[in-house]
Amino acid sequence: MVERMKTACAAIALIGAVTGAVPAWAEQHVEAGAQEGDALRSAVMEDLPGLVELYKDLHANPELSFEEHETAAKLAERARALGFEVTEGVGQTGVVAVMENGEGPTVMLRADMDGLPVVEQTGLPYASARTAVPASGVETGVMHACGHDTHMAAWVGAAQLLVERRDEWSGTLVMILQPAEEIGEGALAMLEDGLYERFPKPDYVLAFHDAAQAPAGMIGYSKGYALANVDSVDVVIPGIGGHGAYPHTTKDPIIIGTNIVDRLQTLVSRELNPLDPAVVTVGSFQAGSKHNIISDVAKLQITVRSYTDEARAQLLDGIARIARGEALAAGMAEDMLPVVTVQDPYTPSTYNDPDFTEEVMTNLRGRFEGRIFEVPSVMGGEDFGQFRRADPDEIESLIFWVGGVPQERYEAAQRGEVELVSLHSPFWAPDAPVVIATATEALTAATLDLMPRSGG
Ligand SMILES: [Zn+2]
Ligand SMILES: [Zn+2]
Repeated sequence: MVERMKTACAAIALIGAVTGAVPAWAEQHVEAGAQEGDALRSAVMEDLPGLVELYKDLHANPELSFEEHETAAKLAERARALGFEVTEGVGQTGVVAVMENGEGPTVMLRADMDGLPVVEQTGLPYASARTAVPASGVETGVMHACGHDTHMAAWVGAAQLLVERRDEWSGTLVMILQPAEEIGEGALAMLEDGLYERFPKPDYVLAFHDAAQAPAGMIGYSKGYALANVDSVDVVIPGIGGHGAYPHTTKDPIIIGTNIVDRLQTLVSRELNPLDPAVVTVGSFQAGSKHNIISDVAKLQITVRSYTDEARAQLLDGIARIARGEALAAGMAEDMLPVVTVQDPYTPSTYNDPDFTEEVMTNLRGRFEGRIFEVPSVMGGEDFGQFRRADPDEIESLIFWVGGVPQERYEAAQRGEVELVSLHSPFWAPDAPVVIATATEALTAATLDLMPRSGG
């Protein structure tokens, strides 16, 4: 999930909300392989100790966005050892691993690599003690607080299993490690560096994200729009400053700003089609320095969420119109109107092709009986959507959730005894073995289904 929109990840709470009490299959998963005689699950369980070791190493050594040098090198080496043709440095620190294995579709599996500027407080024996200096310039701890370490471990798990099963599939497997998801720029960086020109272009793209409000091992999916367009908008509102005791000699930017904030509420409630979901949240309003001084500037920071391009344009146009209109209403001159800046690039919405999603989930349903749920979409952001958006007529994509909350903790939360933390929390400690086992099996099984050897 994209870091600058911290509230986004909490929205995944919905997944837990729709499932209610869940049987204790989380632990059962670990033993089920041998009992059921399922070859794929048995293979996952055989590989799991090694994958968990890798996870702990990744967890202890997180790196910030576009600084994933060690992480990329470590995993590129693994892919190379498995026989993939590996290219590093795609979109700065991205990795592309390709395996051509006969006629058939091209399937791309994506994991993201970056950690967050968060001081870990899980107390885990393999907790990160790393520090780094992010864009803010202030040194901070670094933590895999979004679970991208589970994504990478399962990515390696799927790579191993698919290589072992090369005689069961036919097609081209493209496995990518994406940098800088948390700042919403890594997917675009890889695409702009020729991901679809220098390497086989995928027919299908798959990924998963761990979920901090769902029990470990649960699989959740949404059809259609799954995650939102995310825009970060800055509004700088000039005023005419002066003495607080002589307001008639000033133009107070705080009043203009509050009127803007008020009227922004009507964008979603009165201008957009109520059936087109959107969010306009003013997350920051800064102005002034002292009791008796009327400031000469106010600043707003706004997060704007939508699904469709049309809604996005309507909201952004509306913000510019309202900012201008309120300043004019306050009597500001044409050359002193608010300056509205929309951050570029933005994170586009993620669309799970409904038929493709249904196809993948139908195939997984037998294997994960009682553990797959269709869940509501969220207004969080993920730059995974870029991979389909680059060619929406030719590429189908799906991102699904894998619950990560340890079963006991989930049940305690159901009883109201504990609060679950969200992604990006310094306390987020997923049940990594269950997440990795579930995701490895799901990604592998889905890929095998998409590129069968027989063509049928
Ligand atoms: Zn994430
Ligand atoms: Zn995140």
